[in-house]
Amino acid sequence: MAIKETLEKLKIETLDLIVQANDLNTLSEIRVKTLGKKGSMTEVLRGMKDLTAEMRPVVGSFANEVRDILTDALDNKKIELEEIALNDALGKETIDVTLPGTVVKTGTPHILTQVMQEIEDVFLGLGYQIIEGNEVEQDEYNFERMNLPKDHPARDMQDSFYITEDLLLRTHTSPVQARTMEKHDFTNGPLRMISPGKVYRRDNDDATHSHQFHQIEGLVIDKKITMGDLKGTLEVLIKKMFGADRKIRLRPSYFPFTEPSVEVDISCFKCGGEGCNVCKHTGWIEVLGAGIVHPRVLEMSGVDSTKYSGFAFGLGPDRFAMLKYGVNDIRYFYQNDRRFLEQFKVKG
Ligand SMILES: [Zn+2]
Repeated sequence: MAIKETLEKLKIETLDLIVQANDLNTLSEIRVKTLGKKGSMTEVLRGMKDLTAEMRPVVGSFANEVRDILTDALDNKKIELEEIALNDALGKETIDVTLPGTVVKTGTPHILTQVMQEIEDVFLGLGYQIIEGNEVEQDEYNFERMNLPKDHPARDMQDSFYITEDLLLRTHTSPVQARTMEKHDFTNGPLRMISPGKVYRRDNDDATHSHQFHQIEGLVIDKKITMGDLKGTLEVLIKKMFGADRKIRLRPSYFPFTEPSVEVDISCFKCGGEGCNVCKHTGWIEVLGAGIVHPRVLEMSGVDSTKYSGFAFGLGPDRFAMLKYGVNDIRYFYQNDRRFLEQFKVKG
């Protein structure tokens, strides 16, 4: 068969194979088998040497034409197949919007933080300042300024952790009051403050005591402050924290820094006064201590007790939280057990 016819046949057969090829590997094989160094085209052109001098350029030109046609056909088919392969890959990567999302775990404010913030909000609403102080205090501010001189027997109720003879971990937040009182300029108006924070006492830890706990103490100093102001203020707090139906009861008590001093009870929110395990069958629950600030406490911090009087109270947010949420062991608050803490997760 003449070379030209062979080339023509090769062209038609190869074009047919190219059209039928449906993947890039097959196409690549066709290219190698036809146009490669050992391909059929090369094989055919080897016969050129037997041609006459006149025929050689004619066949050579035709061979170039065939090579160009096949190269074009292979290139075009390659582009077509690559596009199909790309679309296939994209098609497989569609996003399934019905799959569950990745859960992002978030924390929540500790239950004690939540209760303290609730209490702070009540007093911010009443126009109080929130003042925090040092947890390491001088004996003078922690005890002496609170009318607890060195030999006072009431110091035994608040045995603390001493760092030196005159430095200790504060046993209550009262030193913050003393420090604020001595700085306050009463010509600018009354002092209304609460001091929230951690306090330390060397109690034996048990279900209702922890060596570290929280306190929020309040202090108001102005002209003509009376027990009535104290009672009204505490009623606002108690109703907000334990329900609008709560009543409060003041019982005489003793604290070195207030005179008169009272224990404050609230009517039981569980039984409404009938008697139950929460109120130990009395209908009342003791929630905090309070009183009219002792004139000596005012004087020791430079406040003229003939002009000014004040009330003070101290409450335990830990106890408030235990009562409010029915927690029967204070140690749960400090053990970092997520099964306990996650019950108080803030929603939303
Ligand atoms: Zn009760």
